[in-house]
Amino acid sequence: MDAEQPAEPNVEERRPCPECGEHIVVGAILCRFCGTTLNQETGEAVRLPPEPVYAASTPSDPTSRYATASLILGASSLALVFCCWPLSVPVSVVGIVMGVLGMKAKQRSLAVVGVVLSALGIVGMGAFLLLMFLAGM
Ligand SMILES: [Zn+2]
Repeated sequence: MDAEQPAEPNVEERRPCPECGEHIVVGAILCRFCGTTLNQETGEAVRLPPEPVYAASTPSDPTSRYATASLILGASSLALVFCCWPLSVPVSVVGIVMGVLGMKAKQRSLAVVGVVLSALGIVGMGAFLLLMFLAGM
């Protein structure tokens, strides 16, 4: 029997990280190599749920603002066709861009309507110009 059996009192017990395989301290809650959160008991990697409750309950997330802006811009671009049509195209383009950005929002339908209205604004202006052109002939 070896009386000098190494008890390793000063050397911390290590085990390989389940994610990156680097040796980390047993009981570590975070791998210092890859940043994986670890279960202190089992040493397994802990999968954090991506952005839980609070992300869904944030009323002012930018995507829903984009969706709303798209709707407003789309409606404006349609109205502008009849009063100051040169403004209609840039407003429509911005409306479509906003709508595309807003597609990720919960109010996806708002963004869809915004894109449709913006597209109608462009189509409407095209039709308006065509009518002007035909009337001028
Ligand atoms: Zn790791």
